[in-house]
Amino acid sequence: PGTVMLQVRVAQVGPGQLLVLAEDNTQARRLEAIRRDFVVNVSHELKTPVGALSLLAETVQDAADDPETVRRFAGRMIGEAQRLSALVHEILELSRLQVAGALNDIVVVDVDQVVAESVDRAQTGAAAKSMAFSVGGETGTQVFGDATMLVQAVRNLLDNAVRYSSPGTTVGVGVRTRDGLVEIAVVDQGVGISAEEQDRVFERFYRVDPARSRETGGTGLGLSIVKHVAADHGGDVQVWSQPGRGSTFTLRLPVAARPADEPDPISSPTPT
Ligand code: ADP
Repeated sequence: PGTVMLQVRVAQVGPGQLLVLAEDNTQARRLEAIRRDFVVNVSHELKTPVGALSLLAETVQDAADDPETVRRFAGRMIGEAQRLSALVHEILELSRLQVAGALNDIVVVDVDQVVAESVDRAQTGAAAKSMAFSVGGETGTQVFGDATMLVQAVRNLLDNAVRYSSPGTTVGVGVRTRDGLVEIAVVDQGVGISAEEQDRVFERFYRVDPARSRETGGTGLGLSIVKHVAADHGGDVQVWSQPGRGSTFTLRLPVAARPADEPDPISSPTPT
């Protein structure tokens, strides 16, 4: 803030006459810097699994006559390939979201269904850690949006809650309406996030503990995607957390409802 980038063009339009054009392209430069940063980060992130894959492949090649080693390292190669594929998927998703109008079909979406489907998809990961989801709160709420993207966002929050919690703990999912917003809260009893890091976790590729994130299949893009999906729906995502006690991520979306005094356009057509 405070610095303005001006692109200045000077042209001689006549004898002793200069035309000076100054264009404020602060925003364009900022976007360009963000894009450049993103490409650098992506290349860096891709190098890790690709490097691991080629090392593992070399080991397999050298151990061709030792079936046990081949089996073990091939298994690790599959794991790396899956991570690579998840990373590419999220990178594509995020770049799509950064383009305005990335949402597909904007329809009235049942929040209950979004929650149920997200829980369903996150179930396998939770079961692997003997964790369970406890869904509660208001039912029957609706928002306008792209159901696929909303499921993706809630699912990212659920995956994180599982990823950063101890085995056997429960993850709560609560829905309520407040000030014209439907709030979907994902509550975990996990490691928590310090106050200083709470803003940073929404940045692309930012991880509090890179090793833990990678080991558990994290890409560092999950919350960034949630933030974009929320913004594209006219909402936001908030975090409350205490290290050692747990975190609550709340996705807030404008409620899809007509004011009570507005007639239903379908059941009561305007008189002709
Ligand atoms: P990742 O794929 O690494 O989970 P995210 O963008 O989803 O990437 O999250 C960024 C970072 O925020 C994570 O690496 C982790 O350090 C932290 N984080 C996210 N969710 C939670 C949570 N529920 N509890 C504790 N830390 C979390």
